[in-house]
Parts: sequence; C-alpha cells; structure tokens
Amino acid sequence: MKQLISYLLIILMFSCIRGESQLNYKLSKGSKRKLEESNPKITSLSWEPLRIHYEFLNNNYDTKSIEFLKTVFDKTATFFQKHLLIQRTDSTITYRNIYPKSLFGFSINEAYLNKEFEADLVFFINIENNPSETYLAYCGPAIFDIETLRPIFGLISWNMHYSKLDKMTNSIFEANLETAIHEVIHGLGFIDDYFTSFYDSYTGNSYNTSNIFYSFSASYLSTPRVTNFVQYHFNCTTLLGLQMENNGGQGTQGSHLERTLFYNEMMTGSDMTGNFLITDFTFELLQDTGFYRVADYSPDQPIWGKRGWGWGWVWVWSLHTPFTTWCQYQGWGRQEFFQF
Ligand SMILES: [Zn+2]
Repeated sequence: MKQLISYLLIILMFSCIRGESQLNYKLSKGSKRKLEESNPKITSLSWEPLRIHYEFLNNNYDTKSIEFLKTVFDKTATFFQKHLLIQRTDSTITYRNIYPKSLFGFSINEAYLNKEFEADLVFFINIENNPSETYLAYCGPAIFDIETLRPIFGLISWNMHYSKLDKMTNSIFEANLETAIHEVIHGLGFIDDYFTSFYDSYTGNSYNTSNIFYSFSASYLSTPRVTNFVQYHFNCTTLLGLQMENNGGQGTQGSHLERTLFYNEMMTGSDMTGNFLITDFTFELLQDTGFYRVADYSPDQPIWGKRGWGWGWVWVWSLHTPFTTWCQYQGWGRQEFFQF
C-alpha cells in the first residue's frame, strides 16, 4: 500500500513538470560576465517600496489582450510595491543608448530609447498567441543597476493562448495573476544566472560560503535565509540549501524550486490545478539577493514536507537526491530524513 501511494505521488509530480510552463530567460554571456565582475556599492540610502512599471514592446497587439494584461500587471505591481523594498539610487531610470537594442531577441521600440521612467524596474511586454508552444510566459531581468546590481529592465513574453480570455472567470483570472507574479519574480533576479551575485544587503559583501553548489544532477542555493528556512521547514538542521528543479529543460531547470519538495509553491516550474502558495522559500530568497527587503507581509504557510512528515514524501525525495547520512526526527511514518 505504501509503495502504491508513493508511486501515485511520483506520477502526480512528473505530470505537473510536463504541464504548461512558466519559464525564464537566460542572461546573454556578456551580461552574465559583466554581472559576475561587478561588486555592489552599498549606500546609506533608505529602503523604499519597489515601483514596477510595464510597457508593451509595440502597439500592434490586439486591444483586448492589452487591456487584459494591463489589469493583470497593474495588480502585480501593487502586490510587489506593498511587499518589497529597494534602495533607490535615483527617482527615475532611463533606457540608455549604451543598452542593447534588443533583449532576448526582441527589438526595443525606439520610442523607449533614452526615455525616463518614474520607476525602479521596467518590464517590456511582448504578446504572442502561440498554441503550438506549451509555455504560458517567459521572463528575465536584462539590465542591472551598477551600484546595487538590482535588475532595472527586464522583458516578459506572454502567450495569450493560455489566458482563456473568452472563458474568463474569477479563478481563471487568478491563475493568470499567479503566472504574472511568478514571471515578475524571475525578473526580480530569481534565475540561476543571478545566484552567484547575491550579497548581504547589510554589509555589501558576498556570503561566506559559495551561494550555489551542485550535487549530482541538482543545484542548491545556499544563502543564509533560505537555508535557515529549509532547515526549519524540513526539521533538519544539516540541510545545506534550497534545492532547484532539475527537470523541464533550459527555461525551467535550475531557476525553479524542485517540484517534488516544494509542490505548490509559486516558484515551482509549471502550472498546476489549484492554488499556488507564495511562501518564505521565495520571500527569503528575495531577501538573500541583497536587492530587496521585505515590508510587512504574511507569507503562505507551506504544508508539503512540513517538519519532515510522511514516508511517501521522503521516499520520493530520496529517489532524486543523493544522500550520505540520515536526519532523524520523530514523526508519523518513516522516521528518517536525509541530509546531503
Ligand atoms: Zn518560471
């Protein structure tokens, strides 16, 4: 019976990975190198609510899609303004002449070159309608502030095919909103290209240990806040970091939370039925970037794997991750828990 339930859990998890994806763009080699060579210059500036602004890449998109995405992304901007703080080095940002004329293969409209935006982060939005692709959307940060290293320009490409405009209900709208929040979080720096540039916002220094390490086919973000929360949540003080997804191909692998461990967390890599949670796995990661601090908030409480419950979950996990010793705990079911 135990084996049957575990088998069903595995089927469920892998069917989710193969679902509609919410993907991230990779930085160009040049941008990645520049980012890695840059050091943050910490200032004494106060922390202010993050202002996100959106611009459509061109005005040829259909009006209905534009209106819909404006509504979705306005709500997304409100969400992040409420929860995240940044150090504002200037009241406006400008898409400067020296920046690339195209981002992730999309040309930047000339009207935006040298334009000043009253914002801290601007996303350009491309709209597509592509039934032959399985992705809902893509996003990535592209240009960063040279003082704080915080992303200041990014790009989102949105596949309207999955937005279901003609069947809109509250729950479909909510699903679209969740996708938008997920994508913007990538744009905030939640991509593996950025992980090595995360720093302590109090000192401006890199963390004591390497931010990321690899074990067999999986990668782990090992910055202080996420590691603490992983240890607390799974009730295992020897865990060393936050495990990233190792399935789903280039736009998913490495830049999403591992579905088998974090199940319905917002930053897992594909859509699923039911509500996503935005938990401290994500909020702590955002604080570990060094770019953000969290304002007053109440994160969703993850139940999946909480305090190491259940042999089924442990059994599934151990299939994917090498382990050397076991972390003992007292709980229901199998009383073993691995460390890596
Ligand atoms: Zn994603």
